[in-house]
Amino acid sequence: MNVRFLGATRTTTGSMYLVEVGNRSMLLECGLFQGRRDESLERNRDFPFDPATLDCVVLSHAHIDHCGNLPNLRKRGFTGNVYSTFATRDLASIMLADSAHIQEYDAKFVSKRRAKKGLPPVEPLYGLRDAEQVIRQFVAIDYDRPIPVMEGVTVTFRDAGHILGSAQVVLDVTEEGRSFRYLFSGDIGRGGDEILRDPQVVEGVDFLQIESTYGGRLHGKRGDSNETMAEAVCETIERGGKVIIPAFSVGRTQLVVYTLHQLTLEGRIPEVPIFVDSPLSVNATEVFRLHPECFNEGIYQFLQETANPFGMEHLTYIRQVKRSMELNEMKGAAIIISSSGMCEAGRIRHHLANHIGNANNLVLFVGYCAMNTLGSRIVAGDESVRIFGDPYKVRAQVKSIDSFSGHADRDELLAYFKALGGDIKKICVIHGEEEQSLSFAELLREERPGVDVIVPELGKKVTF
Ligand SMILES: [Zn+2]
Ligand SMILES: [Zn+2]
Repeated sequence: MNVRFLGATRTTTGSMYLVEVGNRSMLLECGLFQGRRDESLERNRDFPFDPATLDCVVLSHAHIDHCGNLPNLRKRGFTGNVYSTFATRDLASIMLADSAHIQEYDAKFVSKRRAKKGLPPVEPLYGLRDAEQVIRQFVAIDYDRPIPVMEGVTVTFRDAGHILGSAQVVLDVTEEGRSFRYLFSGDIGRGGDEILRDPQVVEGVDFLQIESTYGGRLHGKRGDSNETMAEAVCETIERGGKVIIPAFSVGRTQLVVYTLHQLTLEGRIPEVPIFVDSPLSVNATEVFRLHPECFNEGIYQFLQETANPFGMEHLTYIRQVKRSMELNEMKGAAIIISSSGMCEAGRIRHHLANHIGNANNLVLFVGYCAMNTLGSRIVAGDESVRIFGDPYKVRAQVKSIDSFSGHADRDELLAYFKALGGDIKKICVIHGEEEQSLSFAELLREERPGVDVIVPELGKKVTF
């Protein structure tokens, strides 16, 4: 079996791995590469293989850097099945539609810039129709149900505890009379999540492909984060200020809402109006409610006995732009949760433009902000930032809680690795900035001397 590492290797974005067994081939993940607009358009447009020859695609979860280039794959001739869990299929259906809108917007933006240089316009990577079409190719399978997906390969999903529906992908391979188990970790959660189950342990692993987003870093404890959030919210409300929380639509937003719900019920924060202002977040929350089979025992009980974990009387979900704009005029304390988490797109930019200049307000970050994003500049303490091209003074308080992360940190990844069963012979470390991946690979070598640990270069082919 050969695996070609075509994305998210020595970086975190654009997950894509081509698996070849005999004369058959399948794709693990088909993610969007996200970076500068022009570069991204170029990198995502062409595949270094013929999509028409693929037998199938297998997806670990619905984050856009793992599934976002599927509509383009279809457009370029892929007609096979896309295997995922049920929740991943439902999340992908709303996220790919949202991504199609962004693609159309980005193509217009790039075309405008090209027009100034006398260059012809660019086509969007894909449109809404492509996104809708590829959703029809999905075949959903539940956790722990082995399904043959192509000659010589059976797939089993095991819970990864990263986002709703996220899975580790187990490939049981038979090739030329030889049988072995290849485990792709997908993105691995921290464990002890408020909503999700812990990552499951996989037995009998021969070869491992493991993520390393935080392969060289440690997070704070989750318990502390609730305390930090309660304190920060209370202080701001006492000042009569607003709490602005930039959060990813899928996962972080629901976790923040559930945490605020718990803190309110425990009487640790007062009942102030809470708004979730992002159409994608509203849709994603509906998908969460449809999939209690993905919940851990605690939140499942809460849902059965107490209330909707993602709804409260004083919490309002907002879809319409008009309702969103009404928030600008609102007086008094409130909490506004909006996307995107890195503040690069979405309505959060309007809320920041409106509130970042007032020292009574708080901007509270609950997720990772990549370098050079608006979010990262605010977190870094820049005194002035540009929003929609205009400069804004940062007078609001700024806090950041990293323990809400959906990714295991170094020690949690190592604990996950140690719990795996089987005689692991070779490991590929992927999905991390180079420094993180190299540092985690070194840790694995110390842990298992004699095991071949590789951090593949982009495009590299590894034989198992
Ligand atoms: Zn992810
Ligand atoms: Zn990822």
